[in-house]
Amino acid sequence: MNVYDSQRMADIAAQEGYEEAAGPENADLIVLNTCHIREKASEKVFSELGKLRALKNVRQRAGKTTTLVVAGCVAQAEGAEILRRQPAVDVVVGPQSYHRLPELLRWTQVSSGVVDTDFPPEDKFSRLSASAPAAIARRGVSAFVTVQEGCDKFCSFCVVPYTRGAEYSRPVGEIIEEVRCLAAAGVREVTLIGQNVNAYRGADGTGGAASLAVLIEAAAAAPGIARVRYATSHPNDMSEDLIAAHRDLRSLAPYLHLPAQSGSGRVLESMNRRHNAADYLNIIQKTRAARSDIAFSSDFIVGYPGETDEDFQETLNLVRAVGYASSYAFKFSPRPGTPAAEMKGQVEDGVKAARLAVLQALLEEQRQAFNRACVGRRFEVLFEKRGRHEGQVVGRSPYMQAVFAEGPSSLIGAMAKVEIVEASHNSLRGKVVSQAS
Ligand code: SF4
Repeated sequence: MNVYDSQRMADIAAQEGYEEAAGPENADLIVLNTCHIREKASEKVFSELGKLRALKNVRQRAGKTTTLVVAGCVAQAEGAEILRRQPAVDVVVGPQSYHRLPELLRWTQVSSGVVDTDFPPEDKFSRLSASAPAAIARRGVSAFVTVQEGCDKFCSFCVVPYTRGAEYSRPVGEIIEEVRCLAAAGVREVTLIGQNVNAYRGADGTGGAASLAVLIEAAAAAPGIARVRYATSHPNDMSEDLIAAHRDLRSLAPYLHLPAQSGSGRVLESMNRRHNAADYLNIIQKTRAARSDIAFSSDFIVGYPGETDEDFQETLNLVRAVGYASSYAFKFSPRPGTPAAEMKGQVEDGVKAARLAVLQALLEEQRQAFNRACVGRRFEVLFEKRGRHEGQVVGRSPYMQAVFAEGPSSLIGAMAKVEIVEASHNSLRGKVVSQAS
């Protein structure tokens, strides 16, 4: 989502007369778009700001001004504290207010530091005009489209409901206009994104609300769009019509990122996830029944407060029961202001590290097994760029694996049927069998 937001902020800056600089040393405007999910996010931002202050000073001595903006979820969480700790910053803007960037930049002419971390009542997206064609064309053949923001789930470990606010879904018509605009600029694949994307309920233009399944169908029908993906989903919002969309829509990638977080019912309850391992496995089974070639990825947290060895074994059991194509696993780290940060039973770091190593080894084993099982299969690959070797092109499989093949550069931007002939550690090698579109 931050990639998408950064692109939109670049579009806004372009409308204000800015163009992309080669690097921060040449930039009159620097926007640091921040994420609060990873450990020590704020410290990393302040450390980066220290370097940017030094750069700003160097440029100032050369008679150049530099406007420094901090955007994103750390900006939302820290607010005016950023100005207090780093006075070189000119603007602090939260993820729900960045459409106001032009006004905020003008304010810096008369004020020494501007903070906007409101959740404004106006619709941010309606203020963001359809992207400039030149900016879109730079984005290549695959693009993100934010369809939903915020979250009402309040998982005990997560800052998103505090930094991104309540769930909001963009209207269908506005999203499809953006998808058409992207397709007209050469984009062939869109990933519909939201913090809790399958909770999407966007105005359908007839007084009703459309589900994500309806939105996916409309996006897939946009001329030029060959493949649709969506992320990230909550198990409780895997509705019947979304599962049916995997059965009925061939252009919906057979790949689902469905975070489980843990396999222990006790831990899941403490996490306020509102599902247990059996519910999760039931969804996996139903989705597989709808589309036999579907593969899954997930996120896991190990060492959540109160997690015992038995709880961790249940996580391993869940992973073995599903068999993932790819997954992410992290040690629990407390986020200030979230309930889990204050919970009793914080797990020792050594225990967390040991559990993480075991889980990551299992997930890696599954990833390698999945890649090996791809050999001999035929996939539709969307080619994105030239490879490092002469005559080589690189694309993505439906399962997000990098696929290398011999072929002309005219394949870039096209979907082609590729037979996989070899699986290496991080990629696949294939032979182009036919160009699909
Ligand atoms: S559903 Fe996802 S975004 Fe929402 S609170 Fe839980 S982890 Fe955070």
